[in-house]
Amino acid sequence: MAETLLVLNAGSSSIKFELFAVGPDERLTSRFEGQIEGIGVAPHLIAQSHTGERLVDRPVPLTQAPDVESAMAVVEAWLAEALPAPPVAVGHRVVHGGPLYAAPMVIDAEVLAQLETFVPLAPLHQPNNLAPIRALLRAHPELFQVACFDTAFHRGHPPLADRFALPETLWAEGVRRYGFHGLSYESIASRLPEIAPEIAQKKVIVAHLGSGCSMCALEGGRSIESTMGFTALDGLPMGTRPGQLDAGVVLYLLSAKGMDLQAVEHFLYHECGLKGLSGISNDVRVLLESTDPRAAFALEFFVYKIAQMTGWLVAALEGLDGFVFTAGIGENSPTIRAAVAHRLRWLGMELDPEANAQHGPLISAKGARIRTYVIPTDEELVIARHTLALLRKSQGSAP
Ligand code: AMP
Repeated sequence: MAETLLVLNAGSSSIKFELFAVGPDERLTSRFEGQIEGIGVAPHLIAQSHTGERLVDRPVPLTQAPDVESAMAVVEAWLAEALPAPPVAVGHRVVHGGPLYAAPMVIDAEVLAQLETFVPLAPLHQPNNLAPIRALLRAHPELFQVACFDTAFHRGHPPLADRFALPETLWAEGVRRYGFHGLSYESIASRLPEIAPEIAQKKVIVAHLGSGCSMCALEGGRSIESTMGFTALDGLPMGTRPGQLDAGVVLYLLSAKGMDLQAVEHFLYHECGLKGLSGISNDVRVLLESTDPRAAFALEFFVYKIAQMTGWLVAALEGLDGFVFTAGIGENSPTIRAAVAHRLRWLGMELDPEANAQHGPLISAKGARIRTYVIPTDEELVIARHTLALLRKSQGSAP
């Protein structure tokens, strides 16, 4: 039986997991993936093999999964049944590596304590990301665990991209433009040499358009700028987050509307974006099917902002050679991709309608100045690769 690695991605109400087998040549192959969802409300455990076979699909008593930490024990118990031997290592997605971590880290009690100090930088995501780490560290102190950060890929940004126009003391205490979705951008950057070798070392914009949305400027495969900043609220409008927003609006909500901190936080993370604009849904599929003019307006606004932010990133890159669409919307919606390309026709973006309908990978028209691609992102594989590399390093056999 091959060694296996487990990748965990814990959110506010779910823990997603994927199990990889390590081949004799250190190749990683996905065996199965699943999640426990509805944690604290109506927990449900589901998993399917890489061939699509349903491995488990059952409700979990609420008493067993009232929070993320207890839900981890449910996942562990199922894994113990499903696997002949426990995984040799676990890799975790952690949203914030703060100013300290520019690369994945092997987790021990000291690193965990350090990661806990970054909770104020990502109050909604970081505590959930850390809960399974804490649970596993307590139950299996010998288990090899690695944290992979969504901020790490952006840590090579030039100082100009990292700063706000705020006093230096705030920068020193960590109020910086970190950028997020770094594991997704790393996944795309790692695939460019094979899928799009002609642009891999050039100036490329990657649009991660999912329930969270951001764009990243790559030069030579490295991130030099991102539309997300200090938190995952900045940049593009998203399913339920507004994206770029005049700070004065927040002051208005606090003063004129009398909202307290918690109410404003809930509003900005859960009630804005496509959901707030349309008054209908945060899901692009629903908006595309709707005949309500508010749905059309929300989508037009979304596309307009993607085009505007492209201009912003082109200025940072001082040029553009390629554009990549990825994540739920970017990978699956020819309509949104075509609308973005239409708005960016001045830049030399033109799609081949047939290639776009078939999701590429190359979707630009023959002879178009901007080579445009659809590339599926695989954040879990990036985490698995980092985890395996650090495991081998700890075993003294780094490849
Ligand atoms: P992600 O966070 O990457 O899983 O993306 C989730 C989002 O992708 C959903 O909220 C949908 O809005 C969007 N999505 C998924 N499939 C489609 C599709 N076929 N067309 C348009 N949007 C889609």
